This record gives sequence, structure tokens and C-alpha cells, in this order.
Amino acid sequence: MSLDTISLSGKKKEVSNKKMTFWESLYLVAIFKGLMITIRHLFQRKVTIKYPEEKRPLSPVYRGQHMLKRDELGRENCTACGMCAVACPAEAITMKAAERKPGEELLYREEKYAEIYEINMLRCIFCGLCEEACPKDAIYLTETKVMVPSASKREDFIFGKDKLVMPLTEAMKNRQNQLS
Ligand code: SF4
Ligand code: SF4
Repeated sequence: MSLDTISLSGKKKEVSNKKMTFWESLYLVAIFKGLMITIRHLFQRKVTIKYPEEKRPLSPVYRGQHMLKRDELGRENCTACGMCAVACPAEAITMKAAERKPGEELLYREEKYAEIYEINMLRCIFCGLCEEACPKDAIYLTETKVMVPSASKREDFIFGKDKLVMPLTEAMKNRQNQLS
């Protein structure tokens, strides 16, 4: 078999160099055919939606944006061990650890905490492996179905602790639910 006849898709077309006829050289037939395709699509069911104004219904098991959890006293659970970053197949997580100082016991549960914790949402594939790997029950993908909002700058997709840590009010609500 010659190399010229090999085609991976099996749809290889031979390029024809034959001279165009007068009508072909006017391109009128080709333009008309193209317009007919466009017009036909106007009356067909649309497969696209006007995101972000319109949103598709999501699956009940959809994993939403990550959250760094607080415990029942409102302290951050994360101890900056790095297990989530190691488990992440997309290498989306980076962090910087710091030591807890005296007086910060009500802020951080462990002696070491994440001073900086960032997830690159452009890399993340929402697989949930970070959640599986975490020994401190500190990170999880929420059931809120909140999607990462669209943005025009790459920096806007680097989510730091300001966007990831559970709001204190939510931690307090969880505490009340546990007590009741
Ligand atoms: S969900 Fe998956 S890809 Fe996203 S940060 Fe966690 S481990 Fe990485
Ligand atoms: S989120 Fe969990 S696994 Fe990741 S650094 Fe914090 S404690 Fe470790």
C-alpha cells in the first residue's frame, strides 16, 4: 500500500485540480447552497444556549465549586498538608503553609494552616480527588451547583481563600443544626 492512499479517517478525498466551469467560477451556486444550509438551521431545534444568561439544568450529582470547611467552632480545618495538591490530576492546587501563633487557636484548628490556598479553576476538572485525599475533612465540592462564573481575565479564575473558605455564618448554621 502506498503512503498516498493511507487515510486515518477513511474519508480522504482526492484533490481535484480540474479547471472550474464558468458557473463554478461565479461561486453563485456555492453561495446559494451555503445560504440554504443557514436557512435550514434557522428552523431546527437549537443545540446552543445563551450562556451565562441561560443555564442548563444540572445533574443531581453535579459537583459545584469547592469549599474549605470550618469546624463547629468556626475554625478552618485545613492543615496545609498538601495531600489534595498531590492527588490533584490537573495540578490545580497550590498552597503556602504557616504556623499557628498563640491566640489564633479560634481561627485555625490545627497547629499548621494554609496561609495561601489557591485553586486554578481553569485547570480544575471537578473530579473530587482533592476531597477524597483530604485527611482533615477540610475541602469538598459543594452540592450548591454553583458554577465558576465566566470572566475575561485569567487571574479571575485563580480562587484564593477569600472565595474558598466557608462563610462563618454557614459554619454557625451547621453548628445550630447539629445541636437541634
Ligand atoms: S476537583 Fe480534581 S482537578 Fe479540581 S482541584 Fe480537586 S483534585 Fe484537582
Ligand atoms: S485541604 Fe485537606 S488535603 Fe488539602 S492541604 Fe488542607 S488538610 Fe491537606
